[in-house]
Amino acid sequence: MIVAIDGPAGAGKSTIALNVAQELGFQLIDTGAIYRTVGLKATQMGLDINDGPACAQLAADLDFEFKIVDGKNHIICNGETLGQEIRTPDMSRAASIVSAHPEVRQALLNIQRELGRARDSVLEGRDIGTVVFPDADVKVFLTASDTERAQRRVLQLGEQGAAANYEDILADIRERDARDSSRSAAPLKQADDAVAIDSTEFGIDEVVAKVVSLVPGR
Ligand code: C5P
Repeated sequence: MIVAIDGPAGAGKSTIALNVAQELGFQLIDTGAIYRTVGLKATQMGLDINDGPACAQLAADLDFEFKIVDGKNHIICNGETLGQEIRTPDMSRAASIVSAHPEVRQALLNIQRELGRARDSVLEGRDIGTVVFPDADVKVFLTASDTERAQRRVLQLGEQGAAANYEDILADIRERDARDSSRSAAPLKQADDAVAIDSTEFGIDEVVAKVVSLVPGR
């Protein structure tokens, strides 16, 4: 069973996807975390993140696993559990840049499909319902206004003790939206058969219940 949850940065995908995965007892494949990890590893190795083929080679050689522990989803890359180091503004930007290379997307396509086929899964990302699993059992496209998303990010960073400037974050979200929507390889767009949910209008529990109710047999 595949539940695909797509949408722009900051629409609440991570929280919704985590709650849905826990309620269903599925694994949660956070595909943004995969792109972030490729950006981090490339940076650590001194690779040029604008070099598509080099980043794709790196991506193909990485091994990924996801585990929910104590209510948190963890990405494990080559046996190493990664944390906040992939969540910095620099890594958001690096992920957005490496993810625009068609070669990188192709390398990660196979990896994401293998992960998803191994177990019942919730996948969150940008192109799950359109490209990675076009036959997903459930497809949701989660949105929220960019100003709402920027406000949420400021709160989230504040909770983590990180400095956050609203104007900078809003500009960053708009820049990422533009790059994610305009790239030629798998741009961010709603699948024709996806159910659109605006998370500005509903509380987390309502959105989670709505997504779970779309799962066959629930
Ligand atoms: O979701 P998250 O903000 O962690 O994703 C980081 C970046 O990775 C996004 O801005 C986007 O550029 C890229 N991404 C992608 N396709 C996905 C998931 C993330 O291009 N399926």
